[in-house]
Amino acid sequence: MINEIKQGSVVVLKKGHPCGANKWEIIRFGVDCKIKCLGCGRIVLIERMDLRKAIKKILEEETHEEPIE
Ligand SMILES: [Zn+2]
Repeated sequence: MINEIKQGSVVVLKKGHPCGANKWEIIRFGVDCKIKCLGCGRIVLIERMDLRKAIKKILEEETHEEPIE
């Protein structure tokens, strides 16, 4: 189950990139999404619906939590 995808999230897709990496940063999240391969830096445009289907896992390492006051 996919939790939350947002700009800046790092995701693992079901299919990796030909460069051998399989970690992608969401650099734009809209109707069309742009994802960047963290292995080679290539940017891929993908429709949001396709992206949701392609995601295997969302990594939390890129989240910037704001302190709660
Ligand atoms: Zn790549």
